[in-house]
Amino acid sequence: MYRTHSCGELRAAHSNTEVTLAGWVQGVRDKGFMIYIDLRDRYGITQLYFDEERTSKDIMEKAQKLGREFVVQAKGTVVERASKNPNIPTGDIEVLVSELNILNTSLVPPFTIEDNTDGGDDLRMKYRYLDIRRNPVKESLIFRHKVAQAVRNYLSGEGFIEVETPYLIKSTPEGARDFVVPSRMNEGQFYALPQSPQTFKQLLMVGGMDKYFQIVKCFRDEDLRADRQPEFTQIDCEMAFVEQEDILNTFEGLTRHLIKEINGVEVEKFPRMLYDDAMRLYGNDKPDIRFGMEFGELNEVAQHKDFNVFNSAELVVGIAVPGGNSYTRKEIDKLIDWVKRPQIGALGMVYCRCNEDGTYKSSVDKFYDQDDLAKWAEVTGANKGDLICVLSGETNKVRAQLSALRMELAERLGLRKADEFAPLWVMDFPLLEWDEETERYHAMHHPFTSPKPGQLELLDTKPGEVKANAYDLVLNGNEIGGGSIRIHDKPTQAIMLKHLGFSEEEARAQFGFLIDAFEYGAPPHGGIAFGLDRLVAILGGQETIRDFIAFPKNNSGRDVMIDAPAPIDEDQLDELNLKLNLKS
Ligand code: ASP
Repeated sequence: MYRTHSCGELRAAHSNTEVTLAGWVQGVRDKGFMIYIDLRDRYGITQLYFDEERTSKDIMEKAQKLGREFVVQAKGTVVERASKNPNIPTGDIEVLVSELNILNTSLVPPFTIEDNTDGGDDLRMKYRYLDIRRNPVKESLIFRHKVAQAVRNYLSGEGFIEVETPYLIKSTPEGARDFVVPSRMNEGQFYALPQSPQTFKQLLMVGGMDKYFQIVKCFRDEDLRADRQPEFTQIDCEMAFVEQEDILNTFEGLTRHLIKEINGVEVEKFPRMLYDDAMRLYGNDKPDIRFGMEFGELNEVAQHKDFNVFNSAELVVGIAVPGGNSYTRKEIDKLIDWVKRPQIGALGMVYCRCNEDGTYKSSVDKFYDQDDLAKWAEVTGANKGDLICVLSGETNKVRAQLSALRMELAERLGLRKADEFAPLWVMDFPLLEWDEETERYHAMHHPFTSPKPGQLELLDTKPGEVKANAYDLVLNGNEIGGGSIRIHDKPTQAIMLKHLGFSEEEARAQFGFLIDAFEYGAPPHGGIAFGLDRLVAILGGQETIRDFIAFPKNNSGRDVMIDAPAPIDEDQLDELNLKLNLKS
């Protein structure tokens, strides 16, 4: 037996018992005649104690040789400490060591393995196994386990069955590029890794599984924006014989359960917001509603004066920044520079101070009098002491810009509190989305999403206006889940694919298996998938998902620890009948 107890277990009540511990040397304090060692394992830290009077000479010498991160086994007696350490759970005791075995040595680690480390991101990723020894990372992984466990328990309790679906499949249309895997046995052919198990879970519904879930890896080859991973985990779910309302209730139940179970917070019924309203009020389909600062559209009150910038704009829209009138001129100039950065892309920003005496002072006083500005305040909900920030231009762009400004200001004002949970459903997304680059419509969710009842005909005349039976679950400004009621009959699926620009042959080649299945009694069905990494990060009060993933990839999609991706040798290429045609 390597150990009788863990390093987090011993208390004063264990005094005088003989114990054996095993773990890593976190630190050594050598005072010559006395040596103290902090011994660490997953469960905590226990102080080992050696003294000249009671410890044999050879063990003293062995202890003196120990370095950081050596792996040792120590036998000894639990002793109540004279001076206790209230900062650690084992702080009342120490172990007077009578036997010491060095199980393994260690090089000096490249960064300190403590809560606050001196290691930069890259170094920590390269030596991720050392990083995982640190409490913050270790705790994050344990936290993730707890969330996953709570998900499994809840969904199992609701009658869901976890079914595994294959990873070596054919392209799934979730809007990203596929990662592909060459097939050795089928010359010139490739598998695609699933962007999600979408088609399989629908086939499970055709197969009569009724309620499916899976905690599953998904793979999307996208240019990695900050805090995205090329492989990530979904809680993927599907139900048969359901309407949208059933799905919303079921997964609102799951989310509420998680927030209660993990964070101890009770959340009221989730508000629901139409996609169009989310865009109008927050400029964003995943609004953070922990705070107000809703958009006020100012076209009616700000256009038709002599200010051409506004007159020529498709949308003039503002927000009221609480207490913003206290900003100095310099601070406001900085804010204007902030919205003009290329990442945000605004051409400028008009502002209006709401003075405490009820008067207004704007950057465009030449064109607007006090009555005009009072209307701005009314529309944006600005109070005395606030600052109104106004952007103008093309609707979609301006909304995105003002949304970014709203989030930035809320962050600065401390309105995005990690311990507050503000979930909401955003519903009735457009079915199709115009893609400027390819000049055609794409499915906004995916091609299996059903249009709202009675809207199928609109596809021919006003495709951009058709709404879908699609919904997103948003938490604190993040999309944590999204899903839809699916098409479950062949004719509708054919119409949808036609509108997405698939010829009949293409549709058959890519989705024939699903369309065929629809001809064998496919039940009405729908589902949702949650991004587990993000959900865990938010429940854990963090915005970055990396620390909740044991072995994450960097922004270039590399695993710097194992150094992947990497070239493969000629033989392997040969076996796969592949030849490289490298451009650089
Ligand atoms: N497969 C979808 C996705 O990954 C989720 C769903 O529609 O259930 O976003």
